[in-house]
Amino acid sequence: MRLTRHAPVKRWYAEDLIEFKESAQKGLGVFAKTNIPRGTRVISENALLEIDIKTVTLNSIVPAFEHLPPSQQKSYLELYGYAGELFKHFVEYETGKSWQELPEVHRKVLAIYAANAFGYVFFLGSRINHSCIPNVNFAYNPILREEVFHVIRDIVAGEELTVMYIDGTNLTQGQRQNELSRYGFQCTCPACEDTVQGRQRERKRAELAILDQELAATADDGTNESYRKRLQVVQKMSAIQKSEGLLNRQLRFVYYEAAKCCLKLKEQTMAYLWIEKIMEVDLYCVGKDHPEYRKMLTIAEVIRRAVSVPEPISEGTVEWFMKD
Ligand SMILES: [Zn+2]
Repeated sequence: MRLTRHAPVKRWYAEDLIEFKESAQKGLGVFAKTNIPRGTRVISENALLEIDIKTVTLNSIVPAFEHLPPSQQKSYLELYGYAGELFKHFVEYETGKSWQELPEVHRKVLAIYAANAFGYVFFLGSRINHSCIPNVNFAYNPILREEVFHVIRDIVAGEELTVMYIDGTNLTQGQRQNELSRYGFQCTCPACEDTVQGRQRERKRAELAILDQELAATADDGTNESYRKRLQVVQKMSAIQKSEGLLNRQLRFVYYEAAKCCLKLKEQTMAYLWIEKIMEVDLYCVGKDHPEYRKMLTIAEVIRRAVSVPEPISEGTVEWFMKD
């Protein structure tokens, strides 16, 4: 858990490109005012409440809120809250009190957390609704010390901006819905809809889920055989993710794995091609000012030289790349 900062609030959004308004079924949402090309940064802000949803205990949310300066408390309370039965049950279990026994303001703070925290709670970014095929990626930029939200495919005027609240690229619909239950809604995004197209998409997601398990089961044991096997699996995963429009940073993970395998197999030209793909994803998902993109630029340069000479890449360089 990172402690809540008291640095000045930084909050910026591309006013000429996006607007915040009511959506048909999902309350407030964020919409494109005009066509927006892939890679555009639309929001950059620091978090209102920095308690990671993966490590949070419900007892820590109210104290974290009370620790905020009054202006940030006011911003926080402007967000929409929703507490589902499951969430209330967790709260009751942890606090030892019934939901109704809790002070009203505590219920409100908790309900806002439940409805808005993906990663952390953001004043602007938390208003973006969820989709299992999102068109926006969010990531922390440690140099800016802000969360940046980038459009990851070209979107047209009027289209709703969406992010994936969960790490759900390689999960089936049932698994995704299970994870989403803490937000208290049933997902009706194009990947979850009960139509011919929706079911086709779901078959691809099920394939991804199986491949993801295969990858986990294929140990990286230092043999060429294991690297070949892992490479095959991630190649299939990247092809499905791309064809299904799953273009967020999970795609980077499989490209990264592919590049690692090629380096271990001493297939430097192929490694270079995968690194170019990583850089493409970084460029549109997080931007040129992100340290991971800068690191990739340096690595790409080392490998490009090794390919053109050709000379072997030192073990040190390979190990440096392997370090995530
Ligand atoms: Zn969905």
